[in-house]
Amino acid sequence: MQIPLPELTSLDNILPTEPLLMMGAGPVPIPERVAKANSIVINHLGDTMAKIIEQVKQMSRYVFQTQSKWIMGVAGPGSAAMEMAITNLIWQNTKVLSISNGFFSSRLAEMARRVGADVVVYQVEQQQTADLESIKSYIETHKPEVITLVQGETSNTVCNKNLREIAELASQYQCYVIVDAVCTLSTMPLQMDEWKIDAVITGGQKGLSSIPGVSLIAFSERAYQRIHSRPNDCPQWCLDARLAEKFWHQSSYHYTAPVSGILAIHEALALICKETLENRFARHLRCSLALQRGIEALGLKLFVPAQARLNSVIGIQVPNGIAQNALCQHISNRYRVEIAGSFGLDIVRIGQMGEQSRAHHLFRTLHAFGCAIRDLGGNVDLPTGMAELERGLQNNLSDAE
Ligand SMILES: *Cc1c(COP(=O)(O)O)cnc(C)c1O
Repeated sequence: MQIPLPELTSLDNILPTEPLLMMGAGPVPIPERVAKANSIVINHLGDTMAKIIEQVKQMSRYVFQTQSKWIMGVAGPGSAAMEMAITNLIWQNTKVLSISNGFFSSRLAEMARRVGADVVVYQVEQQQTADLESIKSYIETHKPEVITLVQGETSNTVCNKNLREIAELASQYQCYVIVDAVCTLSTMPLQMDEWKIDAVITGGQKGLSSIPGVSLIAFSERAYQRIHSRPNDCPQWCLDARLAEKFWHQSSYHYTAPVSGILAIHEALALICKETLENRFARHLRCSLALQRGIEALGLKLFVPAQARLNSVIGIQVPNGIAQNALCQHISNRYRVEIAGSFGLDIVRIGQMGEQSRAHHLFRTLHAFGCAIRDLGGNVDLPTGMAELERGLQNNLSDAE
């Protein structure tokens, strides 16, 4: 029996005629240079690629703030980089303390369980940062070799602002610290070496403002020694750091590298270097705080109290009587702005990662957001919200553009 040709709709007819402004929890808008690089295919081996990989590593060292040479890329989502950290540093019976603030941090625990680790989870209270004293008592009772945590928990918009203190505490007990910085890297400070972190994970499509599907990971020298002296092979062939070393450090073949995505991430990193981390952090902070101020001035409530609040993704309580899904759909259909719902919480989320933190996007997004709520019967003070956004941005607005 022959399988008949499928009936198709052309891509032009599937995609919206006017591109949506991507203001959700990722993927985020990409700069023109990144998009252009992403359209190029070159040989995945050879001198040209070697030069590009060398620069990707150099720029990554700056962005991760590490002198470690063990930077690697991975063809896959942020989760593949998470899995690379876990499966290389953790194996059967490794004692792991997983600090869980929510959805993504618990994914790290799940990955550790799947390689047979002995995992204890410290479940942090909702809307709070991980508590240093609690971590200390978990370390003393469980004696973990490895600790996993997120810097920013994108799902419920909590930030472990005391990451530095946590990592320094862990290092006093010789624990290896794995940090998921998928949504935060390059949007807020993270100093891998100075804070004594052993593995930092990031994805392409969030803080870095590159495309989804190519991710980066940095291992400390100490972590890399652990990988080289592990008792058995990493069970995941594609994610095996010792095999990835062939491509990322010896210009030879592991698997065919995602060349276009690597070119894209090269450009995303180059833009970060050009902007400098200092200016980039300042831009993100100014934009996010101004947007938060605008949202509150609409008459809405932010989900997380200021002391634990993530700035890279803003969580907003949905006004009574309006469904999260209906709001996300309406703002997308009517105003061509994408925002995100959340997993199991009655909040919507607006991202402030990379290209999302631009003044003109903020005005369009806040206006669309206020209008969408009003359209659905909610009560918002749109003029005051817009004015407060403007006030928040007024200082050094030029840097935010
Ligand atoms: C998005 C995200 C991930 C997962 O990234 P994917 O590319 O979806 O696999 C992991 N951790 C955090 C903190 C994230 O924000």
